[in-house]
Amino acid sequence: MSDSPAEISGSGFPLTAPSSSQLQQLVEKLTPEQHHVTQKSGTEAPFCGGHLAEKSAGVYGCVVCRLPLFRSSDKFDSGTGWPSFFDTYDAQHVTRKSDASGGMVRTEITCGRCDAHLGHEFSDGPPPTGIRHCLNSLALHFWAEGEAIPLEIPLEIPREIPREIPREIPREIPREIPRAISDATDAPATPDADLAIAWFGGG
Ligand SMILES: [Zn+2]
Repeated sequence: MSDSPAEISGSGFPLTAPSSSQLQQLVEKLTPEQHHVTQKSGTEAPFCGGHLAEKSAGVYGCVVCRLPLFRSSDKFDSGTGWPSFFDTYDAQHVTRKSDASGGMVRTEITCGRCDAHLGHEFSDGPPPTGIRHCLNSLALHFWAEGEAIPLEIPLEIPREIPREIPREIPREIPREIPRAISDATDAPATPDADLAIAWFGGG
């Protein structure tokens, strides 16, 4: 039995990693491009990302688990073609790892909750931090100022691409009660209909 409480960041967000099934549910909602970047450490082409030119006030979060990562007030034009931030929303929300791929040693940054690949960190940023967090737009979700940022991992998040609502909605949700459960519990074996008759008959 563990007595360590769920880790909460300084800004009040739970940092407990999603379970493997939860992560699978989240990853299934990603576009192939978002999947490539966040789950395979991919890098989007420069000057193409959807958040590069974003100037609105708001917060940028992990596209996979929606943990807030960066503020628009810390965004700056680095000239690199990737969205760049000189500070994090909360230092605990971004994890740093040494990355020796690509023939050089860089510092990879990943989501502090779900470990999604975000981009890299460099030491040539502007004051006051001198840090340049170089992001893939595809790894980010943007909340405009005033939009609610979920504290917990939203496990029923809509896709980024609008989906058509299926025209045919099943009339009934199948309710199959496994026999083994009925046999194993004290539940009365009578069907619901009989129970209803008994109820009305008794009144
Ligand atoms: Zn995440």
